[in-house]
Amino acid sequence: MSEKTIPYKIYLEENELPTSWYNVRADMKNKPAPLLNPATLKPMTAEELETVFCKELVQQELDDTTPYIEIPEEIRNFYKMYRPSPLVRAYCLEEKLQTPAKIYYKFEGNNTSGSHKLNSAIAQAYYAKKQGLKGVTTETGAGQWGTALSMACAYFDLDCKVYMVKVSYEQKPFRREVMRTYGASVTPSPSETTEVGKRILAEHPGTTGSLGCAISEAVEAATTREGYRYVLGSVLSQVLLHQSIIGLESKIAMDKYGIVPDIIIGCAGGGSNLGGLISPFMGEMLRGERDYRFIAVEPASCPSLTRGVYAYDYCDTGKVCPLQKMYTLGSGFIPSPNHAGGLRYHGMSAVLSQLYDDGLMEARSVGQTEVFEAAEQFARVEGILPAPESSHAIKAAIDEAMKCKETGEEKTILFGLTGTGYFDMLAYERFHNQEMTDYVPTEADLKVGFDGLPKVE
Ligand SMILES: *Cc1c(COP(=O)(O)O)cnc(C)c1O
Repeated sequence: MSEKTIPYKIYLEENELPTSWYNVRADMKNKPAPLLNPATLKPMTAEELETVFCKELVQQELDDTTPYIEIPEEIRNFYKMYRPSPLVRAYCLEEKLQTPAKIYYKFEGNNTSGSHKLNSAIAQAYYAKKQGLKGVTTETGAGQWGTALSMACAYFDLDCKVYMVKVSYEQKPFRREVMRTYGASVTPSPSETTEVGKRILAEHPGTTGSLGCAISEAVEAATTREGYRYVLGSVLSQVLLHQSIIGLESKIAMDKYGIVPDIIIGCAGGGSNLGGLISPFMGEMLRGERDYRFIAVEPASCPSLTRGVYAYDYCDTGKVCPLQKMYTLGSGFIPSPNHAGGLRYHGMSAVLSQLYDDGLMEARSVGQTEVFEAAEQFARVEGILPAPESSHAIKAAIDEAMKCKETGEEKTILFGLTGTGYFDMLAYERFHNQEMTDYVPTEADLKVGFDGLPKVE
């Protein structure tokens, strides 16, 4: 097909939309390691997990063999309100860079929550409702997940209790009020409303909180209340499954025009958008059908893949969640203040960790200032104001496109543009005033986190 017939934005017709999620674990030879009970160090059973998570989501979490899982109609109907998301050919960026590379991005910021997180939020809210629950609890750092979940819970008329990292609660009043508009109750974490919150406040008076700490509080709030379960917006294998909608739509759109990406890039916090974007392509590679390069991009301030260890670790500071084998900096690692709040988690999805350990995916880390330079360059030519998290992928995509310029190769690059940055203007302000810092943890900083890893044989 000739170049000219490829539209600037590729949308799919309603009858072309995916009707199932794709579970990449089914095609993995080396499956991710099982979640362990932190007390017994034995694999978590479904019954144990069901005290914390919704029943059907537990099944999805433990399912390493079913390749396609049907998307219930109610969820597909909700998806139709904001999907398909556009696959955009970055003609203007290519022109600006004077690169022979062809750059595409899948834009997930076209919904009120402003990020890809809504894809999993609606699925998790649906299964909670189906189980007859009253509500769900969760944590949020920068606020994107809490916002997405609030929207999803409003749609299914579920109660939603969000524990928001205190520093974000204070610095991001707009996010907080969006959540309240959708009916969620928002508590700054750590709080006096949970035992674990009280304990953390006693040990660290004046702390501004962390994601790991907010997770512990949200889990306690769910397990001590009748009719509530805890839901999580990233890291878990079920979340990658729901996010496969990103990759499936991308692949259908690309196949339609005979486009084959050489390099697929995504930012990596807990790994859900990247895992979702690459899943169907990775599946082809795992089945020996095709080769791709996959690149995970993380902040140099929180480098779990590039400088972490592959080990069992706690998922939360309070050590109440199951242990997961993953690339991790240790649950006690506290990243320096970085404006990409969604990328500050200490660990990485078990699925992506295993794929990375098997050499099927690359990873690189990038500095904060260079990320904002890329964000600004992108905004000026492509129009979209990107989230700081998403801009990590932009930075790597630009770097790869510039390599093509040197070598003259016409590679096709696909990257995930996970969201918009309207609530991150204080970070942009820092960047414009040249007040941004680029702290990279020292070996000694990392050792503190590694020393706190649980001893698992
Ligand atoms: C949460 C978030 C991320 C990172 O989370 P993953 O689970 O790694 O995808 C990236 N971009 C945006 C806009 C986010 O909100």
